[in-house]
Amino acid sequence: MQYVVDKDPGEREFHQAVSEVVESIKPVMDRNPQYRRAKILERLTEPERVIMFRVPWIDDQGEIQVNRGFRIQMNSALGPYKGGLRFHPSVNLSIMKFLAFEQVFKNALTTLPMGGGKGGSDFDPKGKSDMEVMRFCQSFMTELFRHIGPDTDVPAGDIGVAAREIGFLFGQYKRICNQFTGVLTGKNLNWGGSLIRPQATGYGCVYFAAEMLAARGQSLEGKTCLVSGSGNVAQYTLEKLLEIGAKPITFSDSSGYVYDEEGISREKLQFIMFLKTMRRGRVEEYVEKYPQAVYTPSNGNGNGNWPWKHRAYCAFPCATQNEIDQRDALTMVQNGVRLISEGANMPTRPEAAAVFLDSKLIYAPGKAANAGGVAVSGLEMAQNSMRISWPKEEVDHRLRIIMKTIHETCLDAAAQYGQPGNYVMGANIAGFTKVVDAMLDQGVT
Ligand code: NDP
Repeated sequence: MQYVVDKDPGEREFHQAVSEVVESIKPVMDRNPQYRRAKILERLTEPERVIMFRVPWIDDQGEIQVNRGFRIQMNSALGPYKGGLRFHPSVNLSIMKFLAFEQVFKNALTTLPMGGGKGGSDFDPKGKSDMEVMRFCQSFMTELFRHIGPDTDVPAGDIGVAAREIGFLFGQYKRICNQFTGVLTGKNLNWGGSLIRPQATGYGCVYFAAEMLAARGQSLEGKTCLVSGSGNVAQYTLEKLLEIGAKPITFSDSSGYVYDEEGISREKLQFIMFLKTMRRGRVEEYVEKYPQAVYTPSNGNGNGNWPWKHRAYCAFPCATQNEIDQRDALTMVQNGVRLISEGANMPTRPEAAAVFLDSKLIYAPGKAANAGGVAVSGLEMAQNSMRISWPKEEVDHRLRIIMKTIHETCLDAAAQYGQPGNYVMGANIAGFTKVVDAMLDQGVT
C-alpha cells in the first residue's frame, strides 16, 4: 500500500480500492511466494495505459467548452479491455483508476474473456440539450476512437452514459473508422444491442442477493428493501425486486431521497422510470404524485440523508461510491438490515464495510453483485461477433447462471482461505488468482 500511496499520493479512491483487495489477498500472497517474486502487486496496480485528452465542444450559445476525457486500460490478461464510460463532474484520474482496478477483478469473476478498463469525462450531461450532448460525444470519440476497437478495448455505459450517449459515440466511431463493429456495448436493440443489457446490472444484483439468501434457506419474497439511486441500476433493481415479491421502500438521486412506507409498486416504478429517463427530472416530483411518500433533501455535504435510516431487511446501494459511511452502517445494523448487495461500485466506505463484516451481515461487494452488467456486455460482444441476437429468455438465463457461478466461486474461495461466507474476501481472492495466473503465463508484461 505504501508503494501505491507514495507513487500517486492524491488518488484517495484508487488507494481505497487497492487497499480492500490487498487486505483480502494477504493469505494468497503468503501461500504463493511466486506472486511476490513476480512483483505481481506492483504490476497489477500500474495501469497498462492511461489516456487523458482534451474534449473541446460548442454549446448551444456558440461558446467553446473544454472538458477532460479519460480512458484507463488497466489490465488485458484475460481479454480486450472492457468497462464503462462515466460522464459526471466529479470524474478525475483517481476515480477512473479505482473503477478500472475494480473492473479487472469483476470481469475475471464473470468467467468471460474480458480484461478491465474504465473511462469517462468530467462533462455533466445534466441540463444539457440533446444537441450539446451529441456534440460533446462526437468530440470525445474523435480522440477515443484511436485507442479502442472490438478486439482492443470495448467501452460501455456507466453514470451519465446510457443509450442516448452510446448512440452518439457509436455514430461518430463509425463515421471516422468506416466500420460497423461491436466496439461499444449498451447499444440500442435495433442496431446491435443485446436484450436484457439495460436490465442486467440491476437484475444481476437481485439474483445475487437471492442466491445469498437461498444458501441460507431463505428468499427475498416479502422482505423490505432499501434502494438508493434512481438511474439505470436502481430502476432495474427495483423492477426485479417487485417481480420476486420483495417490498422496496426507498430510492434517491443526488438532490435527496424518497421514502414510501406503502412500498414502491409497479405503477410507481413506471413513473420513476419516466421521470428519470424520459423527463430527466428530480425524484422530489414523486411526492407530488404520491403525497403519502416523504422526500428528504440532501444536506449537500455528501454526509447523511441517504435512505439508510429506515427499518428493512435488505439494502441495495445503487447510486455511487462511498454512499454508506460508518454511522449509516451502524444504523442499518441496529435497524435490522441483514443483507447488503452492492449495485454501485464501492458504495461502502472501508469503516462501514468493517461494521458489516464484524456484524456478520450477508454482504456482497459490487465487484461480485453488480457483475451482471458487464457479463451481459460480454454476451453482447459475443452476439455481435456472431452477427446474431439471442432471445430475451436466453440472455436472462445466461445472466442467472453467471450470477449463480460468481456466488459459488466467491463462497469456495472464501472457504479455501478459512473465511466461510465472507464474500468480500471470496470475490477478491477468486478474481485476483484468475488474473494473476494469466499474467504469469504471459511472461513479464
Ligand atoms: P445513472 O447515471 O443511470 O444513475 C446514477 C444514480 O445515482 C442517479 O440517481 C444519480 O442521481 C445518483 N448519483 C450519481 N452520483 C451521485 C452522487 N455523487 N451523489 C448522489 N447521488 C448520485 O448510473 P448507473 O445507474 O448506471 O450507475 C450507478 C452505479 O452503478 C455506479 O456506481 C456505477 O459505477 C455502477 N454500475 C453501473 C453499471 C451499469 O451497467 N450501468 C454496471 C456496474 C456498476 P442524479 O440523477 O441526481 O445524477
